[in-house]
Amino acid sequence: MRVLVIEDEDSLRDQLSDHLKSHGFAVDSAADGEEGLYYGREYDYDAAIVDLGLPKVDGIEVIATLRQEGRTFPIIVLTARGHWQDKVEGLEAGADDYIAKPFQMEELFARLNALIRRAAGYASPVLSQGELQLDTAKKEVRVEGHPIELTAYEYKVLEYLMLNPDRVVSKMELTDHLYDQDFDRDSNVIEVFVGRLRKKINPVDLIRTVRGQGYRFVAESTA
Ligand code: CA
Repeated sequence: MRVLVIEDEDSLRDQLSDHLKSHGFAVDSAADGEEGLYYGREYDYDAAIVDLGLPKVDGIEVIATLRQEGRTFPIIVLTARGHWQDKVEGLEAGADDYIAKPFQMEELFARLNALIRRAAGYASPVLSQGELQLDTAKKEVRVEGHPIELTAYEYKVLEYLMLNPDRVVSKMELTDHLYDQDFDRDSNVIEVFVGRLRKKINPVDLIRTVRGQGYRFVAESTA
């Protein structure tokens, strides 16, 4: 999952970015609205965290512009405590949720995970497809009730595919969502992760190869 953080306060931006990375997210961060808007237009994110008071272009305008241009990824706004007008403005501009500063990182992650999951059509934090279960809160995977040990990147590949069922996901798209901007990407690595993943979640045959295009996670109902 790749997340965009737009926050002008250096310490908070770094803190957010570090925490998100330690929770397995790929993160791009921007220090003002102009840079944030650039990233939001240029890349496809799984979610964005946007502060409202930003230099150059304010948060409301960033959100409204991205929405007008058809960007639909979930957005959480950061507001100052007690400024209820900010929440209303943020939601009206197209944000999906808000959190008032100062906040607990764990609360932010819980909300972020819930938004990403709901955007993919899952109500529960445990994504379930047949005998395969992936717990997005605990980052645990089970097959027929037995826990499966996955590396961080195997987990990320599986989570992304399960959150995007029944459509072809290219290796390029996977690399874009698994790594941030600064990472040296190599799509051959994705093949290795998928190969290992298939062995580990055997006998669940839900990740199909679409020749020359990528992978398709077959949802239970259509398997
Ligand atoms: Ca600010």
